[in-house]
Amino acid sequence: MDYMVRGIAADGHVRIFACVSTELCEKARKTHNTSPNVTAALGRMLTGAVIMGDMMKNDDAVLSVTIKSDGPMKGLSVSADSKGHVKGFPYVAQVPFVEKYAGKLDVGASVGKGTMTVVKDDGIAEPYASQINLATGEIADDLTYYFAESEQVPSAVGLGVLVDTDETVHSAGGFVIQMMPDATEEDIEGVETGLKKLTSVTDHFKAGKTPEELAELLLGDLGVEILEKKEVSFDCNCSRERVTKALISVGKKELQSMIDDGEPVEMKCNYCNSTYTFGIDDIKELLASL
Ligand SMILES: [Zn+2]
Repeated sequence: MDYMVRGIAADGHVRIFACVSTELCEKARKTHNTSPNVTAALGRMLTGAVIMGDMMKNDDAVLSVTIKSDGPMKGLSVSADSKGHVKGFPYVAQVPFVEKYAGKLDVGASVGKGTMTVVKDDGIAEPYASQINLATGEIADDLTYYFAESEQVPSAVGLGVLVDTDETVHSAGGFVIQMMPDATEEDIEGVETGLKKLTSVTDHFKAGKTPEELAELLLGDLGVEILEKKEVSFDCNCSRERVTKALISVGKKELQSMIDDGEPVEMKCNYCNSTYTFGIDDIKELLASL
């Protein structure tokens, strides 16, 4: 089971989110039939987004992250809620295999240069959007830069997706450590010391270790305390009802031309690839209801 934990350390001066996301990354890979570099990029972003979703407090809060870039992948879109659900898709699912060195996928090369836009909708106020230029396209670096630039929160982010030789996801996970406003110089040094103990996120989860163990490894010396544990999953909330709304939004004229074409209309959800078919009679009915 994929899950994340949220904890605090150093008397609440530091907070940590740690997540194992192997199943959700594999579900994303299967859903979109992604090649290894895309599997890694999308998996890292999904893991980061599900953690960012947890940072949002309201039940109906939604967060989306969009990357638009000039690499072969072109970018991706992901969306997470505050209850552990995340979904996403790459703009190009199959790209050439590129490694930095044997066994280490070059995600930055597949993503390329571009922008990352984060939109937060807490379900109450107007959605808030902020955009940064990608730091490296490696996703974790980009999120670190996003937290520093857009939220003014010094953070350390680690995300890893290990793709097996048969191209399935062997293991995946990640963490975000954030310094609270009252963090001292000593707390920062403590975090830096902790980070040095971690060889890599992928090695940690490859060895079958847990998010709790990751939090303990990174912040154990600062007295880490786990406050919450939550299941996370790749999950799409699309439905025929939602898709129908999207279809109506094309307008009367467009609906009439669909009827004139005489062919059933297929609507596909980008996030989960579910298709919804509307026959001519369905469209006639929709048009009549407007
Ligand atoms: Zn869907």
